[in-house]
Amino acid sequence: MNFMLHEELWQTALGEIELNISRANFITWFRDTGIIKNKDGVVTIGVPNGFSKEWLENKYNKLILRALRNTSNNIKDLRFIINPVTNQPSMEKIFKTGIKKEPPASLDQPFEELVVDKETNLNPKYKFANFIVGSFNELAQAAAKAVVGNPGELYNPLFIYGGVGLGKTHLIQAIGNEIVEKYKKKKKVKYISSEKFTSELVSALHNGKVEDFKEKYRQIDVLVIDDVQFLAGKEKTQEEFFHAFNALYQKNKQIILSSDRPPRAISTLEERLRSRFEGGMIADISQPDMETRLAILKCKLAEKKATLPDDILNHLATNIQKNIRELEGALNRVIALNNLSFTTDKDKIFKILNDIISPPKKLTHYKIIIQAVAEFYDVNTSELINRCRKKEVAYPRQIAMYLIREELKKSFPFIGEKLGGRDHTTVMYACDKMQKEIQSNETLQQEIVLIKERIYSK
Ligand code: ADP
Ligand code: MG
Repeated sequence: MNFMLHEELWQTALGEIELNISRANFITWFRDTGIIKNKDGVVTIGVPNGFSKEWLENKYNKLILRALRNTSNNIKDLRFIINPVTNQPSMEKIFKTGIKKEPPASLDQPFEELVVDKETNLNPKYKFANFIVGSFNELAQAAAKAVVGNPGELYNPLFIYGGVGLGKTHLIQAIGNEIVEKYKKKKKVKYISSEKFTSELVSALHNGKVEDFKEKYRQIDVLVIDDVQFLAGKEKTQEEFFHAFNALYQKNKQIILSSDRPPRAISTLEERLRSRFEGGMIADISQPDMETRLAILKCKLAEKKATLPDDILNHLATNIQKNIRELEGALNRVIALNNLSFTTDKDKIFKILNDIISPPKKLTHYKIIIQAVAEFYDVNTSELINRCRKKEVAYPRQIAMYLIREELKKSFPFIGEKLGGRDHTTVMYACDKMQKEIQSNETLQQEIVLIKERIYSK
């Protein structure tokens, strides 16, 4: 039973939410929200506008639900409605203590990012000079260089995609840094993540400063936007982004985008944005080969002015294959160990290394595949599992069937039963079709690689 008043319940939940996110996010997204109703286990939360609604639904749903459940355990679900709640003084206090005047978004970066240039938001450490090129990223790198030579003219937009930790942010920031240098700051460059773009927009709306926001983006010569897959499902943000994009594009300003998947695979991306993204140059970054992994390690080592025996570098490069960020992380730990001198004993170093390097994960459950496919194509897991006949889910479902067959060798009837209670012949047909299509369809090949990356990193 729940004897708590709405406000008390919300205040307690906010107390917990506040501990889990940055102060800037907390203020941006939770001010002027409140519980409107709490009935039959469903809590209805009033929010100030459509942006907040989308954002809270997409990003904070789980966190809010968990915080509410910790306080009142009979809560099952959440609803959000647009219904501004002007916070009472007791609530407002939560938002007022702490930093007040700081623009919210600037606090949102992890420590290292704080060294970024204030004008451009670029981190000076990302350069072409320390970006190692191999066959896995050479197209992307060449396109990036071409953009530096002819901003706004050759490839517009430039769209770079690839899995996590493979150098997208590094490369798109390198473009920005090089343009700043080459054009002696005459070109106004701005780097921003899609999430920050969204939260800036929301703040602007909140403070009635949308015109300023728009004006700011109209002034830019080179706009670099990271991780545009986060725009998926955010219709209002996409709309504003579309206008910002067009305003720049029409003036031949350069736009550079990154994403963890190709535009075609961001399913809740508005068609007009998708075709904009596809209208320029699309280049992917895949996984580095052994030689490149070693070269990257040596480059990082030199940057840190450290040395390590070759067999240790080989060991790292052999065992960490799929994520350059992880490779770098492991290297940093070995360097730290090495500095602690007790590890001149190589056997010891290898032993410690093996604890750092997690063994390749073994995939055991078909649900992991379904989840990864659903995430990749932005559809609901339940729609894949149920009989849902929507056209958008038919294709992802066939991919899921194919992957469960390929990766787990499950029987056709088993797969049919788990994906919408379908006949085994349907599954056979789907697997066969995918098998054939993969031979000739390069986009599909890449999608499968990206989905597998997801599956095995879960
Ligand atoms: P992503 O944005 O694709 O998730 P990042 O650009 O953040 O990946 O790269 C992760 C880390 O790996 C960064 O520290 C980056 O400097 C490093 N890195 C990635 N690709 C390369 C490369 N080709 N050469 C050197 N370092 C790289
Ligand atoms: Mg990145």
